[in-house]
Amino acid sequence: MRLSELTTLRLGGPAERLVEASTEDEVVEVVRKGEPLLVLAGGSNLVVADEGFPGTVMRIATRGVARDGTTLEVAAGESWDPLVAACVADGLAGVECLAGIPGSVGATPIQNVGAYGQEVAETIVGVRVLDRARDTVQELAPAACGFTYRSSAFKREPGRWVVLAVRFALHASGLSAPIRYAELARALDVELGERAPLAQVRDAVLALRRRKGMVLDPSDRDTVSAGSFFTNPILDAGAFAALRARVTDRLGPDVQPPSWPEGDGRVKTSAAWLIERAGFHRGHGDPDGIAISTKHTLALTNRGAGTTAQLLALAREIAAGVHDAFGVDLAPEPVLVGHEW
Ligand SMILES: Cc1cc2nc3c(=O)[nH]c(=O)nc-3n(C[C@H](O)[C@H](O)[C@H](O)COP(=O)(O)OP(=O)(O)OC[C@H]3O[C@@H](n4cnc5c(N)ncnc54)[C@H](O)[C@@H]3O)c2cc1C
Repeated sequence: MRLSELTTLRLGGPAERLVEASTEDEVVEVVRKGEPLLVLAGGSNLVVADEGFPGTVMRIATRGVARDGTTLEVAAGESWDPLVAACVADGLAGVECLAGIPGSVGATPIQNVGAYGQEVAETIVGVRVLDRARDTVQELAPAACGFTYRSSAFKREPGRWVVLAVRFALHASGLSAPIRYAELARALDVELGERAPLAQVRDAVLALRRRKGMVLDPSDRDTVSAGSFFTNPILDAGAFAALRARVTDRLGPDVQPPSWPEGDGRVKTSAAWLIERAGFHRGHGDPDGIAISTKHTLALTNRGAGTTAQLLALAREIAAGVHDAFGVDLAPEPVLVGHEW
């Protein structure tokens, strides 16, 4: 089977072998058969080479949600978005801003999934993993997961960990966590830091995401993506000052790059803003192959006849353009399989 059938980008050549693991014992058994192994769940954050994968692709299909008060233990193969919907319906706050993100629960700790001012690191209290380096099953506390912006110990050490289940501690409340994202606060007509009814927050997030092509929709080619292709760069003070100088040179003294302080002297800026100011606009690319989404500058989309080679060529063209214009290096957010960045 071609992996394009299992990825949201609809890209990727054949797998040498494909197995589905629907119990934890099956997962452990497949892993112990040895490498090379690619763990795949929803396929929504994977860029697989046109040549495919020369080994076993294991689809995680475990199921189960166990609730103890406001704590949920969820099997890795459960789908994320229905879990968020169920939490909202049950009056459990903490993940409502993460509605509409495709993929599995087990993948959420991998890149510390986040959106609209919330990330899973805020509610995860334990991750049960199979550690392939030690051949043990154990539960990791949040500190051991090393969560950072769109990353974790799991992402930094690819191939070592298989997530079996995730434990979330939520809050019994009809109201959301304080809203931290300006665009969402505006949509809800609340001030930043205010709370809003859970269901309203979920609906507002879904509406904002749909407008950007960030909710999977078979009738919308702008959703044939891996979500945002680039992470927002985090710059130290010197690098941010250099960026401001480059922006002034290029765009004039009245223009400033967006900035969000990280609290440690570093500053996060906007990859989409840099890409647009470097001259790459929505729709740029091949209208039948790979192009920037017509709704969202950060999403690279497959319009039907694209290949992974073309996707990476466009991504590199954009990254080189941003580097030339502003001296900032963009990094891809999805996991590349069979390619180095
Ligand atoms: C339209 C769209 C919108 C998106 N919006 C967002 C967003 O707002 N925020 C965000 O953070 N992400 C977003 N994403 C990216 C993606 O949905 C998330 O990263 C999601 O968590 C990936 O889940 P998955 O099950 O599809 O993982 P896959 O794509 O199957 O796998 C991704 C990586 O995780 C590994 N992996 C998967 N499951 C396991 C496991 N059980 N154990 C160990 N490794 C595992 C894989 O090997 C791979 O390296 C978006 C993607 C799309 C297509």
